[in-house]
Amino acid sequence: VCIVTGGAGGMGAAEARLFAAEGASVVIADVKDEPGGRLAAQISAGGGAARYMHLDVASDEGWARVVEETLGAFGRLDVLVNNAGIGGGDEDVTDLSAAKWDRVLAVNATGVFLGTAHAAGAMRSCGGGSIINISSVYGLVGAPMGAAYPASKGAVRSLTKAAAVQLAPDRIRVNSVHPGFVDTPQTRWMMADPEVVADLRARTPLGWIARPEDIAWGVLYLASDESAYMTGAEFVIDGGITAQ
Ligand code: NAD
Repeated sequence: VCIVTGGAGGMGAAEARLFAAEGASVVIADVKDEPGGRLAAQISAGGGAARYMHLDVASDEGWARVVEETLGAFGRLDVLVNNAGIGGGDEDVTDLSAAKWDRVLAVNATGVFLGTAHAAGAMRSCGGGSIINISSVYGLVGAPMGAAYPASKGAVRSLTKAAAVQLAPDRIRVNSVHPGFVDTPQTRWMMADPEVVADLRARTPLGWIARPEDIAWGVLYLASDESAYMTGAEFVIDGGITAQ
């Protein structure tokens, strides 16, 4: 039984589809009710098990409700993918407003903290679990623009390691995933500009932009028992960007 936040679109939707195809019961948690509900209905119509639940990941009460409803609907919780995230804009550290900083950190970092805390409580009573936190290459190396987004993704990386150490005795594994450039609604404004796409390709040794599925396969591995000995790790899926 898995919860995928931000599951209504982009990478989260790819993860929800893949998990369901592998036999998981999937809770798609998002603020976009229409596409989220539609995806859950599509998965169910295809013979899978999925439910949509409204969740703003920055809301403590929202998390309490979604975890409780998940346990009510499916009886347990094994996997949480903290995937929901927002872009931070391109204002650098000298131009960014404190209000924008707060909003980006609230969704991208506080959202992951709250999800981890609420899910860990439920997973403990189920004998363990796997939490996968979607960071970014910009949680590892300096970003050429923006300040709030890379800071939020660095927070996800460090929180992942602290939680991995603290939750290991409960058999709960916690890992971070660090995608490179992926073609999703979040990056569509960049992908619409051929010059930007050429630049992103040039910065990626493999030379192409990832599809959401390229990341989802890695997330699936971290969710599965095949990754039983991995915790606190940084799973980099970036076409070689950070190898340079
Ligand atoms: P996306 O914008 O396509 O999808 C993000 C989803 O999160 C959307 O469905 C959105 O409604 C949801 N969401 C936003 N705020 C939310 C909130 N407060 N509560 C619940 N749901 C919320 O983005 P994506 O590109 O699929 O990104 C998924 C994750 O991967 C994000 O954390 C993102 O930062 C990260 N990431 C993306 C890229 C990339 O190139 N696309 C690269 C590295 C990391």
